[in-house]
Amino acid sequence: MAQQSFAPKPGSPVKLHNFDPEYHGDLNKKDARETEARLEARLAELQEMLYAQGKYSLLIVLQAMDAGGKDGTIKHVFDSVNPQGVRVTSFKAPTAEELSHDFLWRVHQHTPPKGYIGIFNRSHYEDVLVVRVNNLVPAEIWKERYDHINHFERLLVDSGTRILKFFLHISKDEQKERFEERLARPDKHWKFSTGDLPVREQWDEYMDAYEAVLTRCNTDYAPWHIVPSNKKWYRNFIISKTIVETLENMNLAYPDPEPGLDEVVIPD
Ligand code: AMP
Ligand code: MG
Repeated sequence: MAQQSFAPKPGSPVKLHNFDPEYHGDLNKKDARETEARLEARLAELQEMLYAQGKYSLLIVLQAMDAGGKDGTIKHVFDSVNPQGVRVTSFKAPTAEELSHDFLWRVHQHTPPKGYIGIFNRSHYEDVLVVRVNNLVPAEIWKERYDHINHFERLLVDSGTRILKFFLHISKDEQKERFEERLARPDKHWKFSTGDLPVREQWDEYMDAYEAVLTRCNTDYAPWHIVPSNKKWYRNFIISKTIVETLENMNLAYPDPEPGLDEVVIPD
Protein backbone atom coordinates (compact mmCIF):
# COMPACT_ATOMS: atom_id res chain seq x y z
CA MET A 1 0.00 0.00 0.00
CA ALA A 2 1.41 3.38 -0.97
CA GLN A 3 1.90 5.75 1.92
CA GLN A 4 0.77 9.29 1.26
CA SER A 5 2.16 12.31 3.04
CA PHE A 6 1.51 12.29 6.80
CA ALA A 7 -0.01 15.73 6.48
CA PRO A 8 -2.63 15.67 3.74
CA LYS A 9 -3.20 18.87 1.83
CA PRO A 10 -5.85 21.08 3.46
CA GLY A 11 -9.11 20.71 1.57
CA SER A 12 -8.20 17.41 -0.09
CA PRO A 13 -10.55 14.53 0.75
CA VAL A 14 -8.87 11.94 2.97
CA LYS A 15 -9.45 8.24 2.39
CA LEU A 16 -7.84 6.22 5.15
CA HIS A 17 -7.31 3.15 2.98
CA ASN A 18 -4.59 5.18 1.26
CA PHE A 19 -2.67 5.39 4.55
CA ASP A 20 -0.85 2.29 5.72
CA PRO A 21 -0.84 1.94 9.54
CA GLU A 22 2.09 -0.46 9.25
CA TYR A 23 4.28 1.99 7.32
CA HIS A 24 7.74 2.78 8.67
CA GLY A 25 9.61 3.95 5.58
CA ASP A 26 13.11 2.52 5.45
CA LEU A 27 13.67 3.18 9.14
CA ASN A 28 14.39 0.45 11.67
CA LYS A 29 13.58 0.39 15.36
CA LYS A 30 17.12 0.94 16.59
CA ASP A 31 17.81 4.00 14.42
CA ALA A 32 14.36 5.45 15.13
CA ARG A 33 14.91 5.13 18.89
CA GLU A 34 18.34 6.77 18.73
CA THR A 35 17.09 9.69 16.68
CA GLU A 36 14.07 10.03 18.90
CA ALA A 37 16.24 10.29 22.00
CA ARG A 38 18.03 13.26 20.40
CA LEU A 39 14.71 14.82 19.39
CA GLU A 40 13.38 14.47 22.92
CA ALA A 41 16.41 16.25 24.34
CA ARG A 42 15.88 19.06 21.85
CA LEU A 43 12.19 19.16 22.74
CA ALA A 44 13.14 19.76 26.37
CA GLU A 45 15.32 22.74 25.36
CA LEU A 46 12.67 24.19 23.08
CA GLN A 47 10.00 23.85 25.76
CA GLU A 48 12.18 25.81 28.16
CA MET A 49 12.57 28.57 25.59
CA LEU A 50 8.83 28.59 24.91
CA TYR A 51 8.26 29.06 28.63
CA ALA A 52 10.99 31.68 29.11
CA GLN A 53 9.72 33.73 26.18
CA GLY A 54 6.11 33.47 27.34
CA LYS A 55 4.70 34.65 24.02
CA TYR A 56 3.29 31.55 22.37
CA SER A 57 1.78 28.23 23.31
CA LEU A 58 1.54 24.86 21.61
CA LEU A 59 -1.56 22.69 21.58
CA ILE A 60 -1.17 19.03 20.68
CA VAL A 61 -4.34 17.08 19.95
CA LEU A 62 -4.18 13.27 20.10
CA GLN A 63 -7.01 11.21 18.66
CA ALA A 64 -7.13 7.47 18.06
CA MET A 65 -9.25 4.37 18.39
CA ASP A 66 -8.93 2.51 21.70
CA ALA A 67 -5.41 1.08 22.19
CA GLY A 68 -4.22 3.42 19.44
CA GLY A 69 -1.39 4.70 21.62
CA LYS A 70 -2.48 8.07 23.02
CA ASP A 71 -1.27 7.27 26.52
CA GLY A 72 1.95 5.68 25.27
CA THR A 73 2.72 8.71 23.13
CA ILE A 74 2.37 11.08 26.06
CA LYS A 75 4.47 8.83 28.29
CA HIS A 76 7.31 8.41 25.78
CA VAL A 77 7.49 11.61 23.74
CA PHE A 78 7.35 13.95 26.73
CA ASP A 79 9.40 12.07 29.30
CA SER A 80 12.35 14.47 29.04
CA VAL A 81 10.29 17.64 29.21
CA ASN A 82 9.93 19.64 32.42
CA PRO A 83 6.50 18.61 33.78
CA GLN A 84 5.92 22.19 34.95
CA GLY A 85 5.63 23.35 31.36
CA VAL A 86 3.19 20.74 30.12
CA ARG A 87 -0.52 20.39 30.82
CA VAL A 88 -2.26 17.17 29.86
CA THR A 89 -6.05 17.07 29.65
CA SER A 90 -7.94 13.80 29.12
CA PHE A 91 -11.46 14.28 27.88
CA LYS A 92 -14.03 11.75 29.07
CA ALA A 93 -17.77 11.59 28.48
CA PRO A 94 -19.09 15.07 29.39
CA THR A 95 -20.68 15.71 32.77
CA ALA A 96 -24.21 17.07 33.14
CA GLU A 97 -22.78 20.53 33.73
CA GLU A 98 -20.58 20.31 30.63
CA LEU A 99 -23.53 19.13 28.56
CA SER A 100 -25.52 22.15 29.67
CA HIS A 101 -23.03 24.38 27.81
CA ASP A 102 -21.89 24.48 24.18
CA PHE A 103 -19.52 21.61 23.31
CA LEU A 104 -16.42 23.82 23.25
CA TRP A 105 -16.96 25.30 26.70
CA ARG A 106 -15.14 22.58 28.60
CA VAL A 107 -12.39 22.45 26.00
CA HIS A 108 -11.61 26.15 25.97
CA GLN A 109 -10.86 26.08 29.71
CA HIS A 110 -7.95 23.73 29.06
CA THR A 111 -6.23 25.39 26.10
CA PRO A 112 -2.60 26.12 26.97
CA PRO A 113 -1.70 29.58 28.28
CA LYS A 114 1.28 31.40 26.78
CA GLY A 115 4.54 29.59 27.50
CA TYR A 116 2.93 26.17 27.86
CA ILE A 117 2.49 22.99 25.89
CA GLY A 118 -1.04 21.62 26.20
CA ILE A 119 -1.75 18.01 25.30
CA PHE A 120 -5.29 16.86 24.64
CA ASN A 121 -5.80 13.12 25.17
CA ARG A 122 -9.04 13.02 23.17
CA SER A 123 -10.51 16.41 22.48
CA HIS A 124 -13.34 18.45 20.97
CA TYR A 125 -13.14 16.01 18.04
CA GLU A 126 -15.01 13.44 20.14
CA ASP A 127 -18.03 15.68 19.53
CA VAL A 128 -17.96 14.69 15.85
CA LEU A 129 -16.67 11.12 16.41
CA VAL A 130 -18.35 9.18 19.24
CA VAL A 131 -21.21 11.66 19.16
CA ARG A 132 -21.76 11.24 15.43
CA VAL A 133 -21.36 7.46 15.38
CA ASN A 134 -23.82 6.98 18.25
CA ASN A 135 -26.24 9.78 17.34
CA LEU A 136 -25.77 11.38 20.75
CA VAL A 137 -27.13 14.62 19.30
CA PRO A 138 -29.24 15.10 16.15
CA ALA A 139 -27.34 15.22 12.84
CA GLU A 140 -28.21 18.86 12.24
CA ILE A 141 -26.32 19.70 15.45
CA TRP A 142 -23.09 17.72 14.87
CA LYS A 143 -22.97 18.73 11.20
CA GLU A 144 -22.45 22.35 12.22
CA ARG A 145 -19.57 21.41 14.49
CA TYR A 146 -16.88 21.08 11.83
CA ASP A 147 -17.24 24.80 11.12
CA HIS A 148 -17.43 25.60 14.82
CA ILE A 149 -14.20 23.68 15.38
CA ASN A 150 -12.42 25.43 12.51
CA HIS A 151 -13.44 28.83 13.85
CA PHE A 152 -12.45 27.90 17.40
CA GLU A 153 -9.02 26.71 16.28
CA ARG A 154 -8.60 29.89 14.22
CA LEU A 155 -9.27 31.93 17.34
CA LEU A 156 -6.61 30.00 19.26
CA VAL A 157 -4.07 30.39 16.45
CA ASP A 158 -4.80 34.12 16.16
CA SER A 159 -4.17 34.37 19.90
CA GLY A 160 -0.65 32.90 19.74
CA THR A 161 -1.28 29.16 19.95
CA ARG A 162 0.23 26.73 17.45
CA ILE A 163 -1.89 23.65 16.91
CA LEU A 164 -0.75 20.17 15.89
CA LYS A 165 -3.29 17.40 15.53
CA PHE A 166 -2.26 13.75 15.38
CA PHE A 167 -4.47 10.86 14.36
CA LEU A 168 -2.72 7.72 15.57
CA HIS A 169 -3.68 5.32 12.83
CA ILE A 170 -3.72 1.62 13.78
CA SER A 171 -5.28 -1.29 11.92
CA LYS A 172 -8.20 -3.27 13.30
CA ASP A 173 -5.91 -6.32 13.55
CA GLU A 174 -3.38 -4.34 15.57
CA GLN A 175 -6.12 -3.25 17.97
CA LYS A 176 -7.08 -6.91 18.46
CA GLU A 177 -3.48 -7.79 19.30
CA ARG A 178 -3.21 -4.94 21.78
CA PHE A 179 -6.50 -5.88 23.45
CA GLU A 180 -5.32 -9.49 23.69
CA GLU A 181 -2.08 -8.36 25.26
CA ARG A 182 -4.02 -6.36 27.83
CA LEU A 183 -6.08 -9.46 28.64
CA ALA A 184 -2.99 -11.63 28.92
CA ARG A 185 -1.09 -9.38 31.31
CA PRO A 186 -2.41 -8.82 34.84
CA ASP A 187 -0.55 -5.50 35.01
CA LYS A 188 -2.49 -4.38 31.91
CA HIS A 189 -5.97 -5.56 32.93
CA TRP A 190 -6.84 -2.12 34.22
CA LYS A 191 -6.43 -0.79 30.68
CA PHE A 192 -9.01 -3.22 29.32
CA SER A 193 -12.68 -2.41 29.38
CA THR A 194 -15.38 -4.65 27.92
CA GLY A 195 -16.99 -1.32 26.99
CA ASP A 196 -14.32 -0.97 24.28
CA LEU A 197 -15.73 -4.01 22.40
CA PRO A 198 -18.96 -2.42 21.08
CA VAL A 199 -16.80 0.50 19.89
CA ARG A 200 -14.57 -1.97 18.03
CA GLU A 201 -17.70 -3.33 16.31
CA GLN A 202 -18.36 0.16 14.98
CA TRP A 203 -14.87 0.33 13.45
CA ASP A 204 -16.07 1.21 9.93
CA GLU A 205 -18.43 3.93 11.17
CA TYR A 206 -15.56 5.42 13.15
CA MET A 207 -13.28 5.37 10.11
CA ASP A 208 -15.98 7.27 8.16
CA ALA A 209 -16.25 9.79 10.99
CA TYR A 210 -12.44 10.17 11.10
CA GLU A 211 -12.31 10.70 7.35
CA ALA A 212 -14.82 13.53 7.71
CA VAL A 213 -12.70 15.11 10.47
CA LEU A 214 -9.45 14.70 8.52
CA THR A 215 -11.07 16.23 5.46
CA ARG A 216 -13.16 19.05 6.93
CA CYS A 217 -10.97 20.18 9.82
CA ASN A 218 -7.56 19.92 8.16
CA THR A 219 -6.56 23.56 7.78
CA ASP A 220 -3.29 25.29 7.00
CA TYR A 221 -3.40 26.91 10.45
CA ALA A 222 -4.26 23.72 12.36
CA PRO A 223 -3.15 20.74 10.29
CA TRP A 224 -3.85 17.06 10.89
CA HIS A 225 -1.08 14.49 10.76
CA ILE A 226 -2.00 10.89 10.05
CA VAL A 227 0.60 8.89 11.94
CA PRO A 228 1.19 5.25 10.99
CA SER A 229 0.97 3.77 14.48
CA ASN A 230 1.09 -0.02 14.31
CA LYS A 231 4.80 0.34 15.14
CA LYS A 232 5.01 2.26 18.39
CA TRP A 233 8.63 3.26 17.80
CA TYR A 234 7.76 4.77 14.42
CA ARG A 235 4.77 6.61 15.87
CA ASN A 236 6.92 8.15 18.63
CA PHE A 237 9.60 9.09 16.13
CA ILE A 238 7.19 10.86 13.74
CA ILE A 239 5.39 12.72 16.51
CA SER A 240 8.63 13.86 18.21
CA LYS A 241 10.00 14.99 14.87
CA THR A 242 6.87 16.93 13.96
CA ILE A 243 6.71 18.68 17.33
CA VAL A 244 10.41 19.61 17.29
CA GLU A 245 10.19 20.93 13.72
CA THR A 246 7.15 23.00 14.64
CA LEU A 247 8.83 24.53 17.70
CA GLU A 248 12.01 25.19 15.67
CA ASN A 249 9.89 27.26 13.28
CA MET A 250 8.19 29.33 15.96
CA ASN A 251 10.97 31.92 16.34
CA LEU A 252 11.46 31.08 19.97
CA ALA A 253 14.13 33.03 21.80
CA TYR A 254 15.14 33.70 25.35
CA PRO A 255 13.89 37.12 26.43
CA ASP A 256 16.32 40.03 26.73
CA PRO A 257 17.97 40.09 30.15
CA GLU A 258 17.30 42.89 32.63
CA PRO A 259 19.60 45.81 31.78
CA GLY A 260 22.86 45.97 33.75
CA LEU A 261 23.06 42.27 34.61
CA ASP A 262 26.77 42.28 33.70
CA GLU A 263 27.43 44.68 36.57
CA VAL A 264 25.54 42.75 39.21
CA VAL A 265 27.71 41.47 42.06
CA ILE A 266 26.13 38.96 44.39
CA PRO A 267 26.87 40.11 47.96
CA ASP A 268 28.63 37.63 50.29
P1 AMP B 1 -10.78 6.63 27.81
O1 AMP B 1 -10.08 7.92 27.65
O2 AMP B 1 -10.41 5.64 26.75
O3 AMP B 1 -10.69 6.04 29.17
O4 AMP B 1 -12.34 6.88 27.58
C1 AMP B 1 -12.94 8.11 27.56
C2 AMP B 1 -14.32 7.91 27.01
O5 AMP B 1 -14.99 9.17 27.00
C3 AMP B 1 -14.34 7.39 25.59
O6 AMP B 1 -15.23 6.33 25.48
C4 AMP B 1 -14.82 8.58 24.79
O7 AMP B 1 -15.52 8.21 23.63
C5 AMP B 1 -15.69 9.30 25.79
N1 AMP B 1 -15.86 10.70 25.43
C6 AMP B 1 -14.92 11.67 25.36
N2 AMP B 1 -15.45 12.84 24.93
C7 AMP B 1 -16.77 12.60 24.72
C8 AMP B 1 -17.85 13.40 24.26
N3 AMP B 1 -17.68 14.68 23.94
N4 AMP B 1 -19.06 12.83 24.18
C9 AMP B 1 -19.23 11.53 24.52
N5 AMP B 1 -18.26 10.73 24.95
C10 AMP B 1 -17.04 11.24 25.06
MG1 MG C 1 -9.41 3.83 26.49
